[in-house]
Amino acid sequence: MPTRARNVSSVALRLPQRAEVWLFDCGEGTQHQLQRTPIRISQISRIFITHLHGDHLFGLMGLLATCGLAGQGQEIHLYGPDGLAEYVRVCAQSSPTTLSDTLKIHTVEPGLIHREEDFSVACQPLKHRVPSFGYRVEESDRTGKFDVERAHALGLPPGPLYGRLKNGERVELADGRVVDGRELIGATVAGRSVVYCTDTVYCRGAVALAEGADVLIHEATFAEQDESLAVQSMHSTAKMAARVASEAGARQLFITHFSPRYTPDAHVTPEELLAQARAVFPRTDMARDFMTFEVPRREESPS
Ligand SMILES: [Zn+2]
Repeated sequence: MPTRARNVSSVALRLPQRAEVWLFDCGEGTQHQLQRTPIRISQISRIFITHLHGDHLFGLMGLLATCGLAGQGQEIHLYGPDGLAEYVRVCAQSSPTTLSDTLKIHTVEPGLIHREEDFSVACQPLKHRVPSFGYRVEESDRTGKFDVERAHALGLPPGPLYGRLKNGERVELADGRVVDGRELIGATVAGRSVVYCTDTVYCRGAVALAEGADVLIHEATFAEQDESLAVQSMHSTAKMAARVASEAGARQLFITHFSPRYTPDAHVTPEELLAQARAVFPRTDMARDFMTFEVPRREESPS
């Protein structure tokens, strides 16, 4: 449930070099929280819902209604488990609410669910009381830059020849020299990956989805002391989240979705959850409302 210190689930992913935002989950109040950030609702182009529990979903209708009112013909793709399309349809009919014609709803199945030139998205079932999916966004690798200065230095004439060299072809010049295009292309820039796993108890599906991820965002509803509650309600402890990050070889873990029972003056504090996760996976941080993080590239170190 929302508390004064922390709202329910939603994560916004800002895509580099685009004024586009992808949203993961849309708990109650997400729209209000967005208004307190630099993100504009009109930038949201895709919304991925993990499961149909209210703390991940109850902000969706309000947000979609605003998008419909804006009437900018903004295309929104909504993804989620079976039942999501029905939920949106029934809410919109009984309210009644006019949704944008450009809203497209996709019922997800495990595997690849979206692909475009620079990004792809895959999902995997998690282990929760209702069907729940984790999502992985993968940025495509970029081929290295063509070294124009070196091409000049080799006396290569600009023009169609450059195109062939950029494709990595071996080209024979008029003077008989052979130039290998691959030697003029810099190192490939590895794409980045972000994985979002909630709600779930520890499961192999989450480990598989988070394999080698740059950032894993994983729920940690309970502390180690309350592991039986975690198992019973099919949520994770902080330690389970850390175990997933460790087994997957992720680079950075953010834990989130804490039970409101953990407050600074309670028997277990939120900081204790963080300590429990760090004991297993040191590169763990605790998400807080409005926290932003730029996913570093491989050769950079995380900030
Ligand atoms: Zn749930």
